[in-house]
Amino acid sequence: MTFEDIVKTLSDRMLQGGLAPWKAEDAALEEGLAGPENITAGVAARRAFVEAKSGHSFRHIMLPERPYHTGYRCPNDQSLWTLAAEDTHIRCGMCDTPLEPLPAAQRHKPLVNNYIGGIEDYFSYAGEVTVGGDVRKTFQNILCWGPGVGHLGISVGCFKLNKYGPIEVQVSDWGIAARNLSFVFSTEPEREKAKKIIQQHLPEIIRIITAEHLSEWGGEIVDVDTLYKQHHGDRILHCCFYSRFENHRGHGQTSHAAGRAKLIIDDLFRQNGVSCRLSVVGMGRDGDLKPSPRNRRGRYVSAQQTIPVSEYEKNIGRPIEEFFSYIELDRQAVTEEIGWPAYTGMGGEIIPAFYRTMKNNPRPYLVSCFQKVYASIRGKDLVFGVELPNVEVGITSSPEGIISPMAREALRMAGITSAKEYAAALAAVTLGGEFNFATLHVQERMYTGR
Ligand SMILES: [Zn+2]
Repeated sequence: MTFEDIVKTLSDRMLQGGLAPWKAEDAALEEGLAGPENITAGVAARRAFVEAKSGHSFRHIMLPERPYHTGYRCPNDQSLWTLAAEDTHIRCGMCDTPLEPLPAAQRHKPLVNNYIGGIEDYFSYAGEVTVGGDVRKTFQNILCWGPGVGHLGISVGCFKLNKYGPIEVQVSDWGIAARNLSFVFSTEPEREKAKKIIQQHLPEIIRIITAEHLSEWGGEIVDVDTLYKQHHGDRILHCCFYSRFENHRGHGQTSHAAGRAKLIIDDLFRQNGVSCRLSVVGMGRDGDLKPSPRNRRGRYVSAQQTIPVSEYEKNIGRPIEEFFSYIELDRQAVTEEIGWPAYTGMGGEIIPAFYRTMKNNPRPYLVSCFQKVYASIRGKDLVFGVELPNVEVGITSSPEGIISPMAREALRMAGITSAKEYAAALAAVTLGGEFNFATLHVQERMYTGR
C-alpha cells in the first residue's frame, strides 16, 4: 500500500469505530510504515478523521512536513533535549555544544499525544462530548494541552459520561462585566450627600454611557451598587457598574463606560459643591484579574451527570462511601492549602488548555479558572458535577483584539458558535477530565502503573 492508502485505511477504521484515534501511529507501524513515517501517517489519518467528524477542513491549523520531535543528548553536560523536527538550531541551549541524536529506537515521538496539527501551539484531539440542557450539541474536543496524556483522560471521561446520555449543562445567557469607581471624602455627611447625588442622576448616567460605549456591542447596564468602606480618615464610597453582553466579553467597553460615568459624576459633584478628595477607577473592588469566589464577572456554567450508584461501585470496585472519602479529602486539602477552593481537581490544567486553543478574549484567562467539583447521592444515583461561576469569553473579535484564523478554525471544528456554547463545551470537557481523574484515583490506578 502507498502512504496515501495507509492514511485512508486508518482514517476509515477510526470512523467505523475499529481504531482508537490515539492508536493511529501504532496502527501505521503495523501497516508496514517505519518510524518516523508512521507518525506522519498517523497524524494525517487523525486529521482526516477529525475533518470528517466536524464537517470542516483544516486550512489554518497547519501540519508541518515532519510532525514529530527528535531526542538529543548534549555530549558536554549530558542534558537531554527534545526538539521539534522542524527546529534547525541543533545545539545545547545551555552550553551551545552541538547535540547528538538519541539511539534510533527512542529518537522520534509525536509532538504531543493525539496531535492533529499546529506549529506554535500543538493541537490535540480529545474525543467528543454531547451536552443537553441549556445547550444541546455534540462538540469535538480540540485542545492545546501539552505532551501529557490529559487528552486521553478527557476522551475517556467524556465517553464514559455520555454512556448515561448527554451531560447536562446550565449556562447563563449573558456574561457580566464590572468596573468600579471609588470616591474618597473627609466626612461621612459629605459621602452621604455624594451618594444621594449619584443615585438621583443614575438613570441619566446609564443612558449616556450605554449610548456612547455599550449599545453598539449589544451591552447594557444591569446593576449599579454602592459600598461604604473606611481607612483611617478616608471615608470611601465604592460605586460599581455591572454590564452584560451575550457574545462579547465587554470588558473594555465597560471600563470606558465607567470612565465616562466618572467624568459625569465629577461634574455633578462640582455643580453641587460636594468636596471629594479623590475620584478614581478603583479596580480592586470589581474582581479584575482575580480568580476568586467574589469575582462578579463572567458567566456561570455548570455540567453534571447522573450515574446509577450500583454501576459506579462496580466501576471503582468499592463502596460509594470510599469515593466520597476521596472527594472530601481532596476538597479539604485544596481549601486548607490555598485558603479557598480555586481548583478541586484538574481544572487548573483543563481550563487554560481550552483557552489556549480557542484564543478568544480574555487572553489572560486567570479570572475564568475558578472551578468547583461537587458530588452527591440522589436516590439511587450518583450526581457528579463541576461548576465554573465566572467564565469570561468574547466569541467575536473586539477592540480588545482579534481571534486568529487558527483559533477561529479550532472553534469551527469544535462546533462552537456562541459564547454560551463556548462555556458549555468548556464545562463539559472539564467534567470529563475530572470524572476520569477522580475515578482513576479511587481505583488506585493514577501514577501507579496499574
Ligand atoms: Zn550542554
